[in-house]
Amino acid sequence: MTPDQRLDDQAVPLPELIIPELSIVVPAYNEAEVLSSFHARLTAVMAGLGSSYEIVYVNDGSRDATLSTMFALRDADPRVSIVNLSRNFGKEIALTAGLDHARASGAVVVIDADLQDPPEVIPELVATWREGVDVVYATRRSRKGEGWLKRATASLFYRVIGRASGRINIPADTGDFRLMSRRALDALLRLREQHRFMKGLFAWIGFPSRAVYYDRAPRAAGQTKWNYWRLWNLSIEGITSFTTAPLIAATYLGFVTAVLAIVLMLRVVMNTLINGDPVPGYPSLMAVVLFLGGVQLITLGIMGEYLGRIFNEVKRRPLYVVERYVAGGEAGE
Ligand code: UDP
Ligand code: MG
Repeated sequence: MTPDQRLDDQAVPLPELIIPELSIVVPAYNEAEVLSSFHARLTAVMAGLGSSYEIVYVNDGSRDATLSTMFALRDADPRVSIVNLSRNFGKEIALTAGLDHARASGAVVVIDADLQDPPEVIPELVATWREGVDVVYATRRSRKGEGWLKRATASLFYRVIGRASGRINIPADTGDFRLMSRRALDALLRLREQHRFMKGLFAWIGFPSRAVYYDRAPRAAGQTKWNYWRLWNLSIEGITSFTTAPLIAATYLGFVTAVLAIVLMLRVVMNTLINGDPVPGYPSLMAVVLFLGGVQLITLGIMGEYLGRIFNEVKRRPLYVVERYVAGGEAGE
C-alpha cells in the first residue's frame, strides 16, 4: 500500500484480529471531564448485554486531556479502540471516522460522550435490532434543559426539512444516537460527501427503521459546542445538502418579481397616457431598484451556497486525517 492510498479515507486498513458483534462509536471533543464516568456507565450496561463488543473512541482534536483519558481507559480495558484525528474536524466527520473504524459484524451504536444519550437505552436498541430492524433510532421524549427558543427553532427546522426533502423521511427530535446493522452501516459508509448532514444521510439509506423513546438529560459536564449561529449554519447545511428546493424557490421569486414589475409598468404607462401624469419620481424608483437588487443578491447567495458545496466536493479530499489508530485487543502504547 502506498502512502497515498493510506491517506485515502476510503481505504482505512483495519486490523481484523477480533470481530466483535457490536461496535459503540463515541466521538469526543474536549470531554475529559465526563469521559471516565461515561465509560463506566457504558461498560456497566454492556456487561449486562452478553454480546462481544468494542468501544471506538474518536478524539476529534481535543485540547484537554481527552486523549490521555482514552489511553488510560484502554490500558484498563482492551475492548477500547482509539481513533485520534489530526485536528478538530467537527462532530459529523469525527463520527464518520469512528464508523469507518468500527469492526462489528452485527451492528454499531453511535452515542455522544457527554452522557446526554443515556447508555442504558442501548439494550433496547439491540433488542429491537434483533427483531430484524436495521436502523433503530433513539428519539427524545422530552428536551430537558433546553429553552423554549431552542425547542421552537428545532421544531421549525424539522418541519422545513421534512417538507423540503420530500421522499426522505427525517425523524424529528432524533440526534445521532442510534443503532445500525452492518448492512445499513455499509450503505452509509458509501456516502463520502464532504458536507455531512448526518441526520439526512442516516435517513437517505433507507432500510427498516424504528424509534425507541427516551428522556434526554441535560449535559453532565462541560460545554455544549452548539450555539444559535452554529445551529443556523447546520440548518442551512441540512437544507442545501439535501434538497435543491431553495434554487426552485429562487426561480419562483424571480417570476413573482417579474410579474409585479410588469403590473407596475402597465400602471405607470396607463397613468401617463390617460392622466398625463409625469413619471413618479425618486422614491418609487429607489424602492424598485433596491427591491430588485435585494432579490438578485438573495438569488446569487443561494446559487453561491450550492456553488461552494460543488467546490468542496470536486476537490475530493479525504474526509479526515488519522493521527493514530489503536485497535482494541492489541498491545497498547
Ligand atoms: N463533538 C466532536 N467534535 C466537535 C464537537 C462535538 O466530536 O467538533 C462530540 C462531543 O464530544 C459529543 C458529541 O459530539 O460527544 C455531541 O456534541 P455536543 O454535546 O456539543 O452537541 P449536542 O449534544 O448539543 O448536540
Ligand atoms: Mg451534547
